Parts: sequence; structure tokens; C-alpha cells
Amino acid sequence: MDEQKKSLLNVHSYTKECIERYDGASSQQTKTSDAPPLIRMKLSDAIFNLCRANSLWPLTFGLSCCAIEMMCCGMARFDMARYGAEVFRPSPRQSDLMIVAGTVNRKMAPALVTLYEQMPAPRYVIAMGNCAMAGGPFAVEANYDVVLGVDKLIPVDVYVPGCPPRPEALIEGILQLQEKITGKRFPLPQNKMPEGA
Ligand code: SF4
Repeated sequence: MDEQKKSLLNVHSYTKECIERYDGASSQQTKTSDAPPLIRMKLSDAIFNLCRANSLWPLTFGLSCCAIEMMCCGMARFDMARYGAEVFRPSPRQSDLMIVAGTVNRKMAPALVTLYEQMPAPRYVIAMGNCAMAGGPFAVEANYDVVLGVDKLIPVDVYVPGCPPRPEALIEGILQLQEKITGKRFPLPQNKMPEGA
């Protein structure tokens, strides 16, 4: 067997391991967060969560077509900076939000899991688009390479459906995540799109 084939098989067996390790990770996360903390510091927790929710630092991480819509969110027309989530970082160690934008294939899975594990806690994941949610148009019988949902690998906090979802949908996903972190919905900004834009 040639070396290239061998290394591909290694990647695939590691992917299987990752899927087994993270299968059901969402339910485990729920169990952990349900456990009462030893010391409850309600006010400081609320302040920290408010800060976290309004300064999410996404990881620069795009997989395919949905990533173009994600990039649009950072541009002037949609301007994620209004919600404090525009500081895309090139390192997982400086990020607390992974937006999985695009198709996750089996070869990419080990890299995705490694990046997730390198992010400091608390960390959040948004599955953007039908591919990241459930394999999208590749969820067919003949498919042998696409992971049918990133939640098979890592726990997901918010799902943004669409093929691709519009940038407004991703912004709504970020607002939903802020609501999940703080427990309350922030008022929407009052500025409207200019006429004819
Ligand atoms: S959901 Fe659609 S737009 Fe997004 S990555 Fe998949 S095929 Fe592309």
C-alpha cells in the first residue's frame, strides 16, 4: 500500500474515533450545565456573561460556500461590529466562537476537532447552513465523505438553517447565542437599511 493511501486511512480512523468520542456530546454538556455550582456568585456571573455575549471573538474558519455569507457579515452593509462579534481571530486560542460555515468532510473532521479543543472555555459553536447542520445537499445514499452534521463531532449551541443562510440569518444566530449566554434578548438596533439598498 502506498504512503498516501496509508495516511488517508489514518485520517479516516481518527475521524471515526472523534465521532465516537463526541457522539452525544451535546447531551453531556447539558448534564454538566445542569449541575449546581459549588459557589454561586450571581451578580458577577451576570456581568461576565454580559461581557462574553457582547464581545464574541469568532475563529477565522470557513469551509465552503456558506463562508462567503459569513464574510459578508463583517462588511459594512451588515456590520457584525454592531453586536461586538466582528473580531475574527486567526488562532483558536484567542477565539470563543466557532462558526462552522460549510460542508464538513471526513478528511477535515480531525482538524475541526483539534481547533475546537484548542479554544479556551467557555466556547460556543454555531452551525451555519444545511451542510453544517445535517450534510445539506450531500446527505444522499451515495455520499461517502461528508459528515452529516457537525454536531456528530462537537456540541452545537445554535443552528442557522439555509443553503446558504443570508448574512441576516447569521446575525440572528448571534443574537440567539447572546440570548443563550445572558438569558435575555437584546433590543434590536433601530437603524434601518437605506431606501433602495
Ligand atoms: S449549505 Fe449550501 S451554501 Fe452552505 S456550504 Fe452547503 S451547499 Fe454550500
